[in-house]
Amino acid sequence: MPRMRQTGLTLAAALLCAIPLTSQGPRPRDQADAAVTILKPARVFDGDAMHEGWSVRIKGERIDAVGPDAAAAAAGATVIDLPGATLTPGLVEGHSHILLHAYSEASWESQVSKEGLGLRVARATNHLRSTLLAGFTTVRDLGTEGAGYADVELRDAVRQGIIPGPRVLASTRAIVATGSYQPRFVPEWSVPQGAEEADGVDSLTRVIRDQIGRGADWIKLYGDYRWGPLPGSHPTFTAEEMKRAVEVAESAGVPVAVHTSTPEGMRRAALANVATIEHGNEGTPEIFRLMVEHHGAWCPTLTAGAGPWPPAEPNSPANQRRKAVFKAGLDAGVTIINGSDVGTFPHGEEGRELEAMVAYGMSPVAAVRSATSTAAKVLRLETQIGQVKAGLFADLVAFDGDPTKDISSVRRVTFVMKNGTVYRTVGAGR
Ligand SMILES: [Zn+2]
Repeated sequence: MPRMRQTGLTLAAALLCAIPLTSQGPRPRDQADAAVTILKPARVFDGDAMHEGWSVRIKGERIDAVGPDAAAAAAGATVIDLPGATLTPGLVEGHSHILLHAYSEASWESQVSKEGLGLRVARATNHLRSTLLAGFTTVRDLGTEGAGYADVELRDAVRQGIIPGPRVLASTRAIVATGSYQPRFVPEWSVPQGAEEADGVDSLTRVIRDQIGRGADWIKLYGDYRWGPLPGSHPTFTAEEMKRAVEVAESAGVPVAVHTSTPEGMRRAALANVATIEHGNEGTPEIFRLMVEHHGAWCPTLTAGAGPWPPAEPNSPANQRRKAVFKAGLDAGVTIINGSDVGTFPHGEEGRELEAMVAYGMSPVAAVRSATSTAAKVLRLETQIGQVKAGLFADLVAFDGDPTKDISSVRRVTFVMKNGTVYRTVGAGR
C-alpha cells in the first residue's frame, strides 16, 4: 500500500537524521558559540498572523531573530531555503496515546492484556518518531492505558537525546473510579485495569500525589464512562471529588484534564475549574458557556476511534451530531486545543484532526492556531513554544502550500526542526 511505502521511507529518513543526535548525545549549548541556521521560507505564520518574505534565524536551541531582516549578517550560518513553503511553529498534539497502536491492528483490550511493557515501549519509540516527522513537536499524552509510567521515561529518553521524538507531557496511568473502567472479564476475576482506580477525596488525593511524584506533568481523570446498567456514558466522580482533584494537582502546578462526554460530567468538570475537557461529545450551548465562564479549554478529538478519516458516511446521524456539537462549541467561543486521540489510529496521521475541525466549521487559520499558539497557552508553555518569536525554542515546521488557507497542506510536511535540530528536510537545504 502506498501509505506503508511512505512510512518506510519516513522511518529510514528518521534513522539517518537521528544518527548525529544519538552519537553526540545531548550537550549543553553555549549560546555565544552556538551554530547559526537561517531558514528562508516563502512566508512565516508566527502563531497568530502570516508574514510574507520573513526569514528566521536560529542560534543553538532557540529562535534568535524573526522578520524581513533576519537573514542579514549570515556569515558562517547554514542557510536552508524552503521555496514555496509556509513555516509555522511546531504543531501540538493535545491528546495522544503513544503507548497504544491503531485499534484496526489490535483492539484496546488485546493491547492492554496481551502486549507486555517491553513490546509496547518498543512500539512507542516508533510512534514518537512518526509523530515528530509529521510536524508535531509537542504531545500531551493522556494515559498509558496499562503501561504504567512508561510515558515518563519515554519523555526523558527524548529529552536526553536517546530517541527522536516530540516534547512529551506525561500523565502516567490516568485515574478512574472503581468499577467504571476496563478490561472487564467475568465478574469473579479482578484484573489490572487500564488506569489507576481511586474513590473519594482521600484516595484521589493520595493517587494524584503519587502520580505527580512519579513524574506526571498532567493529571487525567475519567469523569464519565460507559458503565452501569444503562446504555451510553454515565458520570463517575462526584463534583466534590473533581474539585478536590483540581485543588490537589494545582498545588503542585499540575493541570487536570478530564475525559467526559456527558453534559453532567462536563458540567462537574467545568465547575471544578479543570484545565481541559477531553471529547465533550454531548456538549450543549449551556455547558460550553459554563466552560467559557470557568476558563476551561476543550479538546474535541473529532477523529477519535479506529475509523478512517474522512469517514465513509460523512452525513451519518452520528457525524451530523458531532458536527452540530462542534459548532455549538465554536459559537460559544470555547478555547479549543487541537487533539486527536491518536493511538486509536496510526501515529503520524495526527494532521487529520485539523482537517476534521475545518470540515466541521472552524477556519483553517483558527485550526492552525489551535495547534500552535493557543495550544501552547492551554498547556502553559507559551513562554517556550507555540510561536515563531525570538527567545522561544526553535520548534519549527514547514509545509508545501499554506495551511492557513488550505488545511490539507498540514499533511505535506517538508521540514521539521525541534530545539534547533533538523529532523526532516525534503528537497531543500544547502
Ligand atoms: Zn484518549
